[in-house]
Amino acid sequence: MDELLNYINGEWRPAASGATTENRSPADHDDLVGRFAASDREDANAAIGAATDAFPAWRFTSALTRANILHKAANILEGRIQDIGRELTREEGKTLKEGIGETTRAVQILRYYAGEAQQPSGEHYPSMSPTTLLYTLREPLGPIAVITPWNFPIAIPAWKIAPALAFGNTVVFKPASLTPMCAVRFVEALADAGLPAGVVNLVTGSSSKVAEPLTNDPRIVAITFTGSNEVGAALRKTAAARGAKLQLELGGKNPAIVLADADVDHALLHVVNGAMMSAGQKCTATSRAIVDRRLADEFTQKLADRIKSLKVGDPLHPETQIGPVIDEGAAKRLVAEVSAAASGGAKVVAGGDRVSNGDLGRGHFVAPTLLADVAPDSRMGQEEMFGPVLGVIPVDDVDEAISVANSVRFGLSASLFTRDLGKALSFVQAIQAGVVHVNSETAGAEPQVPFGGMKGSSSFSREQGKSAREFFTQVKTVYIDPPPAQ
Ligand code: NAP
Repeated sequence: MDELLNYINGEWRPAASGATTENRSPADHDDLVGRFAASDREDANAAIGAATDAFPAWRFTSALTRANILHKAANILEGRIQDIGRELTREEGKTLKEGIGETTRAVQILRYYAGEAQQPSGEHYPSMSPTTLLYTLREPLGPIAVITPWNFPIAIPAWKIAPALAFGNTVVFKPASLTPMCAVRFVEALADAGLPAGVVNLVTGSSSKVAEPLTNDPRIVAITFTGSNEVGAALRKTAAARGAKLQLELGGKNPAIVLADADVDHALLHVVNGAMMSAGQKCTATSRAIVDRRLADEFTQKLADRIKSLKVGDPLHPETQIGPVIDEGAAKRLVAEVSAAASGGAKVVAGGDRVSNGDLGRGHFVAPTLLADVAPDSRMGQEEMFGPVLGVIPVDDVDEAISVANSVRFGLSASLFTRDLGKALSFVQAIQAGVVHVNSETAGAEPQVPFGGMKGSSSFSREQGKSAREFFTQVKTVYIDPPPAQ
């Protein structure tokens, strides 16, 4: 088994201490995915130094040069989709189809930002003085810390790093400890595309060793983070204390509202997919099915039938629909959450336990789970579960449905299933969510449009699409007057 290295100042190198850490598949603890650099402060410092030194030259490369490198990286990654998709599945546990799909998404994102690098940047304004040329420029920020979660181990790095580079910033990338392989593969594509030394630096290893030196260093001008609300809250303090620019993309408790007039089969398909694909480990996963009481019993029964029929198993097997959850801690936590919800009055109508028959005993599998009669103000009704667990909340009408949907601290994504255009338009206006769907699942994000949440789900910023320019650049306003006539 090869050792996978850090990438600092254009070189693949081990951690300065020589320490490594093992990464095993969540589907099978006997499957060693790789050994990775277990970095610490010294590695973080070296990476920050390299990103700082590389910035002055990189910021003044032409947009066309940056675009060409991103295009080339996209082509390189595209040629490796099958292999990387498979590695993603081994490392993270989503199904092979999803692993390949996510890698394909990373290619699309690189291409999108190769194009975006060449779009107009800044605006021209009329001045009070007719001879003044008055305009704005969008300039890069400097070295940026990119900190990513394990659940989209190649797409999220792509949608942060590609715009950071496209707009002239340099990067120190710290991926989740649980998914360093995809991070290495993404950076390899950039390195192989000819990115100059120091422009992207990768430091793998535990946040307990790397996070503080990375986020507290004054040379790091901005931090873009996707992950849990708890870590996001800590980063707010760190960034505020030293005046760093901060972007947070955090958790969700996403509702799918099903009204009495909905097409039941269509809603079932989208609610089940939204809740259960990627074993429910998407920030946009459907976590609450808020269903009109007149339909609730029938809908719950049909949901239970579909959820029980989902095939749980080895994510590399083509027939598997639900792979493992990310680790043993997550599996134990989910079973405990379901059991606590049942003690509190919710009814477990599908799943609720581990799946450990045969080879699955070597992984962290949780049965797709459906709870009926979930109280909106209970923990199951309020908190992110981040696993294949869906709760049904019956309501009297669309107004109560929207009020329940909005009664959580999160506001990432939301869906409504109805044939009534008026109700759909009211929902779009009233729902507190950054991404809103009518008659489709809560999960899913196209790369050309803004993505992010309201309330506790983000820091009011948006990623992807043209919005990325907002975070990864700063505005300079320029007044140019002609010199006085001689
Ligand atoms: P996490 O525990 O917060 O970790 C995310 C990243 O932060 C990892 O790289 C982690 O490194 C690092 N980290 C941990 N403690 C840190 C600290 N004190 N300072 C700086 N970095 C630190 O989250 P996760 O379990 O990986 O991801 C799941 C969460 O992400 C869920 O809440 C999910 O909803 C959210 N998410 C949100 C979006 C979105 O776009 N809104 C998308 C995907 C996921 P280590 O791995 O080394 O600890």
